Amino acid sequence: MSVTPAPPATAYEVRAWDLSDLLSAPDEEVIARRLEDLAADVEAFAGARGELRPDMDPQRFLALLKQYEALVEKMDVLDGYASLRFASDTQSTAALSLRNRLQRVLTGHENRILFFRLWWKGLEDEQAERLLPDAEREPDLRHYLLDLRRTRPYTLDERTEQVINLKDMNGASAILTLYSMLTNRLTFELELEGETRLLTDGEIRSLYFSPDPEIRRASYLESFRVYEQESKILAQIYANRVRDWYTEHVELRGFASPIAVRNVANDIPDRAVEVLLEVVKQNAPLFQDYFRLKSRLLGLDRLRRFDVYAPLASSDRKIPFADAVEAVLATFRRFDPRFAELAERVFARNHIDSEIRLGKKGGAFCSTILPRLTPWVLINYNQRVRDVATLAHELGHAVHSMLASHHSVLTQHPSLPLAETASVFAEMLMTDRLLADESDPVARRELLAAAIDDVYATILRQTYFVLFELDAHRAILDDASGEDLERLYLQNLRQQFGDEMEIDPAFRFEWVSIPHIFQTPFYCYSYSFGQLLVLALYRRYQQEGEAFKPRYLRLLSHGGAARPEELLGEMGIDVTDPAFWQSGFEVVRGMIDELRSIGT
Ligand SMILES: [Zn+2]
Repeated sequence: MSVTPAPPATAYEVRAWDLSDLLSAPDEEVIARRLEDLAADVEAFAGARGELRPDMDPQRFLALLKQYEALVEKMDVLDGYASLRFASDTQSTAALSLRNRLQRVLTGHENRILFFRLWWKGLEDEQAERLLPDAEREPDLRHYLLDLRRTRPYTLDERTEQVINLKDMNGASAILTLYSMLTNRLTFELELEGETRLLTDGEIRSLYFSPDPEIRRASYLESFRVYEQESKILAQIYANRVRDWYTEHVELRGFASPIAVRNVANDIPDRAVEVLLEVVKQNAPLFQDYFRLKSRLLGLDRLRRFDVYAPLASSDRKIPFADAVEAVLATFRRFDPRFAELAERVFARNHIDSEIRLGKKGGAFCSTILPRLTPWVLINYNQRVRDVATLAHELGHAVHSMLASHHSVLTQHPSLPLAETASVFAEMLMTDRLLADESDPVARRELLAAAIDDVYATILRQTYFVLFELDAHRAILDDASGEDLERLYLQNLRQQFGDEMEIDPAFRFEWVSIPHIFQTPFYCYSYSFGQLLVLALYRRYQQEGEAFKPRYLRLLSHGGAARPEELLGEMGIDVTDPAFWQSGFEVVRGMIDELRSIGT
């Protein structure tokens, strides 16, 4: 048997990623050595526990904090390796058992070192003040410590925290793993060009954007047919998730409401989120208007929910991966050469998994493991214009991380609502670039509509997910059934789309196919927050030109080393002001008007 040599690697081709920056070889020996080393460090750190006293030497406290930081780095590398390997093949037994094993070991370590954070949070304000490191010399560690104390009112005693961690491993985390395993192995059957094809979740979702109305309808119906078969189990998983969320966070920890948990984690005032959701709701008619315009441009008598992502032109242009990468890099370069240089690093290190494979995690994400390591990007590249936007989006995340790579592992990650800033901004740059290069009115119309579709999907759709979650959490605590949730979801869609849109009843199963609703409750408003924020920032960029860039770069380079309100305040933004959010919608209105003017 002869072995075919691998083809020489060209610069930008669809391929799987390389994880060797995390672990030189995925063999038992390497992992065992790492674990031994980590266990010894944990032991040493835990041994210093007795030294923690309110009157201890601040220098010694700082040294312990740095030891803690180093431990977090080591644990993040192992955890990151296991999650990325699992994401590249969720059906691999080896990947799954490694992830489960590491999770168990790391949870054990996490429990052993938890005392440090809890002790710190338990200090009185004056005691903490005395031990805080200097703002000039250790700004990151200082911010990290202050940030920890923000959740002080919701922290339980050490024993209870340990029990919650242990219970989560076989409880909440376990059922979420079941959700991933169950949904990632689903396959879908669709007749395409006369033959029946077996599709992955990512593949069938990409057909929602088909120019053929019959394919759009058939792909949605097939997707929901398959999800309906699993809907009882998925709804049960969700009910448990929601009850666990309430018991832990509201009953035990004393958060004001289920969504307040996310708001505190995001460090965004409840009031700002309420204002955001309300202003978005008020602007639903703006998008309903857009969908009316779009149905006219599509030549349909009536707009169906199936057609929301219909492309305007009938072309089914495929964009090779290499062209997509070149286009994104050129766009970044034109904005700021540093953006392109950083994005290129992701390819140079082979940290991007772009191919479509059965068992690979669907969707797209960017994962930053350590400040000094180039982030990893996963996409399922399917050659659509939309995939180019997704690529720009994920690389935007990677650039954001790398701009903040001078921070600590404890402060590099921006808080969730700011986490989408660079990614969505990169998508806007991409669209503007494509529009500027296009003189054909038909193509411009297509591009503009695709951009508004994206804005719809990021702002209105995500906010309505959160509005659904608010209803669903309440309903489940009142013992709602799976069918009740389906009804609530259909109602939610009617409010979102208005009376004129035809919504097939099969859409009642859509919510069980949205991982965020299960995995990270109320996360989705972060997308609306980020997109509206970016629209406002983008308008300033258009007005201010070059002068805008240094301030924008500074905003990104803060990472998570300052509070969101401070960062936005620096740019003159007040997130509790409805007018600020509304200003984002004025940009959307402008896009719709422009489309209307070239649409006839
Ligand atoms: Zn993103």
